[in-house]
Amino acid sequence: MHLLTLDLLRCPYCGGRLSLVDSLFHRQDGDEIQEGILGCHCCIFPIVDGIPVLHLQPGATAAREHVQAGRPDLARRAMFGLDSEGGAEAFEAAAASPASTYRQIVEALGPGFEGGYFLYRFSDPTFLVADAVVRAVARTVVGGGRAIDVCGGSGHLTRTLLDISSAPPVLADLYFAKVWLARRFTAQGCEPVCCDGNAPLPFAKGAFRLAMCVDAFMFIWTKRQLVGELTRLVDGKDNEGTVLVGHTHNERVWSPSHGQPLSPEAYADLFETIEPRVFSEGVLFEDIVAGGPLDLSRHDSTEVLDRDPALTIIATRHRGVFARHALEWPAAARGEFRLNPLYATEADGNQVRLRLRFPGDDYEQEYGACRRYLPEETTIGRHDLEALPAAVVTGTLAELARRRVILDLPKHYY
Ligand SMILES: [Zn+2]
Repeated sequence: MHLLTLDLLRCPYCGGRLSLVDSLFHRQDGDEIQEGILGCHCCIFPIVDGIPVLHLQPGATAAREHVQAGRPDLARRAMFGLDSEGGAEAFEAAAASPASTYRQIVEALGPGFEGGYFLYRFSDPTFLVADAVVRAVARTVVGGGRAIDVCGGSGHLTRTLLDISSAPPVLADLYFAKVWLARRFTAQGCEPVCCDGNAPLPFAKGAFRLAMCVDAFMFIWTKRQLVGELTRLVDGKDNEGTVLVGHTHNERVWSPSHGQPLSPEAYADLFETIEPRVFSEGVLFEDIVAGGPLDLSRHDSTEVLDRDPALTIIATRHRGVFARHALEWPAAARGEFRLNPLYATEADGNQVRLRLRFPGDDYEQEYGACRRYLPEETTIGRHDLEALPAAVVTGTLAELARRRVILDLPKHYY
């Protein structure tokens, strides 16, 4: 972790500043701390593989003891939850090779780690809406400030923030493995922090212009506290801090991985200091399928909100947010343009036939709405396909990128 990141961090329990305990084991390269112990008024926390671990769950306590004993290798195993020697060695071999892909490391972590659908995340309908909302809101409010992605998992939307702010976005999640993967693959350049969304957040008041929590809020038990915390994090001098809760399920409509959702009005009631606006995700999705603009000036009716399985909530006093936002199509890849892994290829002379193929019935049930923008079948010139992976796409390939048949994926993703 960067030394300057210490300015943003606070102990989740006493609220005190954190500093490196010089008398205990630590390793520092220039202004980056690799391993060490952070101390506040009440507690000490480990930094493992450059990531501060600011909670007290059993893995974190074990990791802190290992760092104090000068064994950062064992601390890392503890944070990844690698109990068996064989599993730990398989992971460490995969992690040590620069050629390893995201997929290979996920596989080395075992079947219990992450559902198989991460591979398709960048073209699923939920992601499309979240990405467009995050882009529109962050572009409007972040300016020269910072954004934080709370419960951001392996950083698929933190990556969107990287396109927008010059200050590195912070990615916070309880799962060490996820933020570790994000820093290496999905959101290179972010500042990862391992912390608990059900506890006070370990960051200073007003440290951010935008605090967001997407596709995770319905799994949080302490919802009132988290909204209070997100609001505190953006409570700065300009009074225009913005809280975004994206893709949270609706208590009134069943959906897969339902969580413990609230009704639209109960979500709105969580916000005590900034009045929020609640959006139907289905209506935002229609804006995207139509090619934009994303209309955040709308007021969705109670009937529309009540029947949508997923909601997006934005709380801000910034006047520019509740407006119409053009969709963006970055011309250059942040990673590299590649064929969407949902397409199977079949050579046909100088053409290649592409066919949409879902990885399973569960995927189709949850994300089948991608058929609204992904063509069932299309063709691409063999030479065009052979030009991938590419940093920039033009002509036919650019058109396919608009339709998400070609995606800007992180390097070494699969
Ligand atoms: Zn403390």
